Amino acid sequence: MSLQYQHGSYKAKLFDKRWLTKRDQILERDKHQCVICGAQNELVVHHKQYHFVSKLGVYRDPWDYDKRYLVTLCRSCHDRGHYRFKVPVKNV
Ligand SMILES: [Zn+2]
Ligand SMILES: [Zn+2]
Repeated sequence: MSLQYQHGSYKAKLFDKRWLTKRDQILERDKHQCVICGAQNELVVHHKQYHFVSKLGVYRDPWDYDKRYLVTLCRSCHDRGHYRFKVPVKNV
């Protein structure tokens, strides 16, 4: 299974209510601002790491991460970050 495919199925989960709730908590914590440049629109909540649960052979659900792995970014900082750095995948 290609990474591309996994990223696609992962994205679908970002519409899940549980994710939207988690996302709101992170936005609240970061005061609805990009932590890099302070922009207040087009915000996305980014995962600093992805966790692969070896025992189950699946990626952790996006809402199942500790808050320290999540950060608020604006779309342009987010896109730049993803272009420059690959999000590390940890086996947990
Ligand atoms: Zn920004
Ligand atoms: Zn991201």
